[in-house]
Amino acid sequence: MAKYRGPVCRLCRREGEKLFLKGSRCMTAKCAIERRSYPPGQHGQKRPRNSEYSTQLREKQKLRRIYGLMECQFRGLFERAESQSGITGEVLLRLLECRLDNVAYRLGFGASRKEARQLVSHGHLTMNGRKINVPGAQVKAGDIISIRERSRNLISIQAALEAVDGRGIPEWLELDKPAFKGVVRALPTKDQISLPVNEQMVVELYSR
Ligand code: SF4
Repeated sequence: MAKYRGPVCRLCRREGEKLFLKGSRCMTAKCAIERRSYPPGQHGQKRPRNSEYSTQLREKQKLRRIYGLMECQFRGLFERAESQSGITGEVLLRLLECRLDNVAYRLGFGASRKEARQLVSHGHLTMNGRKINVPGAQVKAGDIISIRERSRNLISIQAALEAVDGRGIPEWLELDKPAFKGVVRALPTKDQISLPVNEQMVVELYSR
């Protein structure tokens, strides 16, 4: 699957806010948003266009970039959300939030979603006792996500687990830090997914 390989701080600068794509660096004064809070590029400091379309597009890009998905993956999830019962925007948020790489990030196994995705794809995690290497796998209520025994000494995992206290674990997840495992207590509700995104605008954009 293709992936974005360019500079990630540029993505935050384009959206004009912190998307927390780089783990602990995002909390420091080195954050590019702290230093240059205008869009990147030659025309970055010009007055932005504020059409309805551009606002919707920016919301979609922001959501897609937070979860680190390419357009085709994101579009596929949107279509899946549309086919399910419920409010499409909220279902989309839930599908994004229930991706295994995101759950691993939320549990503190990785310092960022990108790092958590790498842990999954390199086979460091198990789901319900079975090795899994599919970052986009959907978790269900009751699923148990663990770090494999042989991977528990990895410095990146230990550092991420130490840093997770500052970030906090969402209430729909439960972390057993000494056992390197987390449990999905229930699927997240919209209120439990606190993101600076208006998901309704994403629906409107794709409904054009
Ligand atoms: Fe975004 Fe983090 Fe880079 Fe700041 S340091 S611009 S929050 S990715």
